[in-house]
Amino acid sequence: MVEQFIFIAMLAVGIGLFVGRIRKIRRNIFLGRPQTINDRKAERWKTMARVALGQSKMVVRPLAGFFHILIYVGFVLINIEVLEILLDGITGSHRIFAPFLGGFYVVAIGFFEVLALLVMLACIVFLVRRLAGIPARLSSNQVKGWAHTDAMLILGIELVLMSALLLMNAAEGAMPNASVAPFLVSGFICPWLSGLSEPTLHLIERTAWWFHAAGILAFLNYLPFSKHFHIALAFPNVWYSKLEPKGKFFNHEAVKKEVELMMNPAADPYAAPTEGAEPIKFGAKDVVDLSWKQLLDAYSCTECGRCSSECPAHQTGKLLSPRKIMMDTRDRLEEVGRNIDTHGVGHSDGKSLLGDFITEEELWACTTCNACTQACPVNIDPLSIIMDLRRELVLEQSKAPGSLTAMFNNVENNGAPWPFSPADRGNWRNGSTT
Ligand code: SF4
Ligand code: SF4
Repeated sequence: MVEQFIFIAMLAVGIGLFVGRIRKIRRNIFLGRPQTINDRKAERWKTMARVALGQSKMVVRPLAGFFHILIYVGFVLINIEVLEILLDGITGSHRIFAPFLGGFYVVAIGFFEVLALLVMLACIVFLVRRLAGIPARLSSNQVKGWAHTDAMLILGIELVLMSALLLMNAAEGAMPNASVAPFLVSGFICPWLSGLSEPTLHLIERTAWWFHAAGILAFLNYLPFSKHFHIALAFPNVWYSKLEPKGKFFNHEAVKKEVELMMNPAADPYAAPTEGAEPIKFGAKDVVDLSWKQLLDAYSCTECGRCSSECPAHQTGKLLSPRKIMMDTRDRLEEVGRNIDTHGVGHSDGKSLLGDFITEEELWACTTCNACTQACPVNIDPLSIIMDLRRELVLEQSKAPGSLTAMFNNVENNGAPWPFSPADRGNWRNGSTT
């Protein structure tokens, strides 16, 4: 009974903290501009099934994709055993599913143990890969420091949790009067424990059980602070992803409205703005100027670097890295969220995404080729953020590289990007060079 009480209290605290963090992430995401995305629902479900559930973009790099799928499938299915642990903890029972499943129970747990072993194998492969810095995208400067520690921590935690699961089953299987037969994988550990007394085996089993249960709750609460939260966010992020051809740019509503007013001869150019209307803003200077979907993108980034490894600007040594764009957006959004927690809504720290996190040089290095959006395994669109930050530079701050400014002036004065007036544009037919 005491054990039950402690378990329920631990569960309540663990879930309470988790829900609190999720609420903050949700609040942060919806600091972004409203954007309505609810069209072509059938296509969205199909895309989510293919890209998020089926991991179709992960297997483009087959080896990493294979091991990632092992971890993913193992992680999802082993949660069935975790469900049993939770129910045992709440009800004070032991292996609550065993009486219902009979002989199939041993088969099911054996299957989960095989999965646990495969997850451990994949974690070791990824740990070695990270330590060896292979491929290069995993050892670049952007993923040094906390990003590296985070990746190593999560792999280590998974290894420890899987080991606790196997040890728990092995200790029980090694007991002379075990209620269940030794399982498929942990059965191989049983002989090593067979010399121990029953109370010692019981202590090992209980310790591993509690360690596993507490570890899962700790893991649950660590996830939303880690890039590994993509386990959950990949699904909505893919569902809401852009279905139009990648090269299609959206008309900026504010720009469209302005142009429509300019083209409408009946419109009053000096009309006062409607009372209470939001001031029109072109582009994005800070995270709150981006849409909620762009902010969801930032929280969904796995920091895998596939986008940067495909980016022609990044490959040729330019400052731009689409992965950094996403990491910076998330870091800035977290900072804005912390400011709200401390000082309330409306407080300004005088910083912004553009300038303090992302520089103009990075933005103008982008060729808008969309290789990053194509490569991203969770359909993130770094280019849309780059374009909105550029719009801020051009439309709000009148800042653009010299070559673009010349082109803009030509479009304004000559109706074309060339430095010729419309009247002179055909002069080349007469042999003229001007
Ligand atoms: S669209 Fe820009 S950021 Fe993305 S891959 Fe191309 S150059 Fe790089
Ligand atoms: S944007 Fe996509 S491809 Fe790039 S690091 Fe994030 S998850 Fe990986």
